[in-house]
Amino acid sequence: MTRAPDAKDGALLEVRELRKYFPVRGGILNRAVGWVQAVDDVDFDVLPGEVLGIVGESGCGKSTTARLLMHLIRADAGRIAFDGEAVRPDDAAGLRELRRRMQMVFQDSYSSLNPRLPIEDTIMFGPKVHGVSAAEARERARELFSLVGLDPAQFIRRYPHELSGGQRQRVNIARALALEPRLLILDEAVSALDKSVEAQVLNLLLTLRRELGLTYIFISHDLNVVQYMSDRVLVMYLGKVVEIGPTAEIYERMQHPYTEALLSAMPSMDPDRRTETPPLVGDPPNPIDPPPGCRFHTRCRFAESVCSRAEPRLGPAAGQDAANGAGHLVACHMRVAGSGHSQAPA
Ligand code: SF4
Repeated sequence: MTRAPDAKDGALLEVRELRKYFPVRGGILNRAVGWVQAVDDVDFDVLPGEVLGIVGESGCGKSTTARLLMHLIRADAGRIAFDGEAVRPDDAAGLRELRRRMQMVFQDSYSSLNPRLPIEDTIMFGPKVHGVSAAEARERARELFSLVGLDPAQFIRRYPHELSGGQRQRVNIARALALEPRLLILDEAVSALDKSVEAQVLNLLLTLRRELGLTYIFISHDLNVVQYMSDRVLVMYLGKVVEIGPTAEIYERMQHPYTEALLSAMPSMDPDRRTETPPLVGDPPNPIDPPPGCRFHTRCRFAESVCSRAEPRLGPAAGQDAANGAGHLVACHMRVAGSGHSQAPA
């Protein structure tokens, strides 16, 4: 496996050159008449015990990336390794084991649960499929209920429609933990919750991470929540990684003009956080026919002629903090260190 620009020794998850294009069908023969470039040559690593936040506008490829990592959809190209072992999409036993060690929590807490099953049965299902006896699976379900803050005596025989959104998401977290995974992918897992419930679930996730030694990939459109949760942040635009680095670096010394515009639109009560940077204008370009060169050049106020000709590669960011900025990478001709164009953000 080739080494990614942000490659880390001892990574729990390694993703290399991951690609997924979806066909756009048309005509009377329903043939592919175009391709939506949802995820295009994505590279990153996730370290054991860290929270990697993934942000970007709707349609940037973050949820498709999550589904590719779980092998819920098949990648067109690229390699994924978990705990040093490459995962082959045609290895059914390997995929089964991978899904035990890597679980996902989705945004819609209701449709993630079977409405006809008491939630205890839903949580017992995974362990039983993996050969755990019914008695042991029931015992584990009760422990998991307590772990996620639900009283087993009160909740365990209830059906999903008898729970609030926050309670259902706690059940989904318990179900995800039932097979004792090492990594959880949380795809907009708190986005549908009220703010007060959201805070409780976020704190529960941080407690579980600490107590169980979990690793998270935390996907959200809410930049405040990502900042609160994440050790590192990865920014995606139109299927590409445009910036990645430690959370403080990204939020305080962001280098990519897209990250800058995204963060400038972030709501804040702090007057020091107000910025002169204009927010993003216009819609993202059509992912069926993305702009050549840098995909952001049609919306970028710093674009020069090179930007529409050559695609920028991820490289060390110019102006990163010497003490804390290691691993801060950016894909921008003007902001990558040593490019000869490097200029500080306005
Ligand atoms: Fe803007 Fe050019 Fe950098 Fe792309 S490469 S973000 S167009 S300055």
